[in-house]
Amino acid sequence: MLFASRPRHWRGGSSRKVDPTGASDPGLAELQLSQARMSVRNGERISVDTTEEAALEQPEAVVQIRGLSKSFGSVRAVSGMDLDIRAGEVFTLLGPSGCGKTTTLRLLAGFEEPDEGEIAFGGRPIVSVSRGISVPPHRRDMGMVFQSYAIWPHMSVFDNVAYPLKTRRVGRDEIRERVLRTLKLVGLEGLEDRPGPLLSGGQQQRVAVARALVYEPRLLLLDEPFSNLDARLREQMRVELKILQRELNIAVLLVTHDQVEALSLSDRIAVMNAGNVEQMGTPDEVYSTPASPFVRDFLGRVLVLPGIATSQVDGTATVTLAAAGHQQLVCDYNGAAIATGQSVSVAIRPEVVSVTAGAKGATSQMNSIEGRIEALLFLGDSYECRIEIGEEQHVLVQVPRTIKWTEGDTVVLGLPREHLTVWPQ
Ligand code: ATP
Repeated sequence: MLFASRPRHWRGGSSRKVDPTGASDPGLAELQLSQARMSVRNGERISVDTTEEAALEQPEAVVQIRGLSKSFGSVRAVSGMDLDIRAGEVFTLLGPSGCGKTTTLRLLAGFEEPDEGEIAFGGRPIVSVSRGISVPPHRRDMGMVFQSYAIWPHMSVFDNVAYPLKTRRVGRDEIRERVLRTLKLVGLEGLEDRPGPLLSGGQQQRVAVARALVYEPRLLLLDEPFSNLDARLREQMRVELKILQRELNIAVLLVTHDQVEALSLSDRIAVMNAGNVEQMGTPDEVYSTPASPFVRDFLGRVLVLPGIATSQVDGTATVTLAAAGHQQLVCDYNGAAIATGQSVSVAIRPEVVSVTAGAKGATSQMNSIEGRIEALLFLGDSYECRIEIGEEQHVLVQVPRTIKWTEGDTVVLGLPREHLTVWPQ
């Protein structure tokens, strides 16, 4: 086990009182105490409108982002984002390269200043462009793990993990106690004297996690934390991180372009595209009921078959496919009205497609189409099979190894109506 058992009192074990705005600072302490609700920017006091602040408060949300935007020149990296991160959840920003994930995380951490918008953390504003509020990064009480880990090579494991406590002027004995406790937590007990460069990739990653957790932040920010690890270690770290997160009950914001990572680790996911959130929901919601073709195609594999709608009655749409011998497919459909003759696409996830050897006969099930095995890849427990449907349509499906498949074989694909989704064009 990479991450060992949880400390008995994770947050309660220390006498230190944590405040998201770093209220150990006398100026910021006023923020909490003042009836007038003041905040600080560059040492200046700025009045905070209590009505607006109250509107940002919601007991469940650790982070509330409203109308957040950031451009770099003509690139709108984040565009009017609204989202909440709830206490104890893993919230993931998922999307392709350049969609604005890291910029969002950096805005939250305080490494970038937004052009517009507000961020509240623990019910208090830490960023408000309109009110001139920007709490500095080191007072935001967020732990961060970078893609590169960014551990210091000239320091031992102990000193790396102790660093955030030293900068916070924690006493020597307490530093020792907390560093050792955190190293135990991440499974690095006994390695405290090891220099940074003499660690494996997985160990460096754990040092980075320990360093982010040692000051008991209320939010852990993870930017592509597993991308430098090999596939097996990545899988292992994923599971261990999930267990650790559940035990500590800490809120996590994860940034990744890896859909498996997002689906397996998250309580909720925001799928981003070109600076916008396309859909927010549980992993099952975004995977099973995608709100847009972008989300549908980005998450997992999908077979998309173009066609023409031939009827739509009582929750059923019938579509004549453009390829596959102009087969008709009957689909469950309760969306917006579709006109007869309208161009549509029908989509289905490959894992719910059944594959049967042989040609399509008169007795074949409804919603079945013929295909030809183009390539078979042996995976050990099954085959990955690329099937050609019509001239330019392909689907990758897994088929059992217990049946003898041969490249070039004709097969029948069964497309259950309840798993088909219809997308008007
Ligand atoms: P990746 O997965 O590749 O890290 P991302 O989704 O995290 O991508 P961002 O790094 O947030 O994307 O970048 C969003 C957009 O903003 C991109 O077009 C990027 O080139 C641009 N961008 C980000 N930071 C800067 C910067 N400091 N200066 C100029 N452009 C930037």
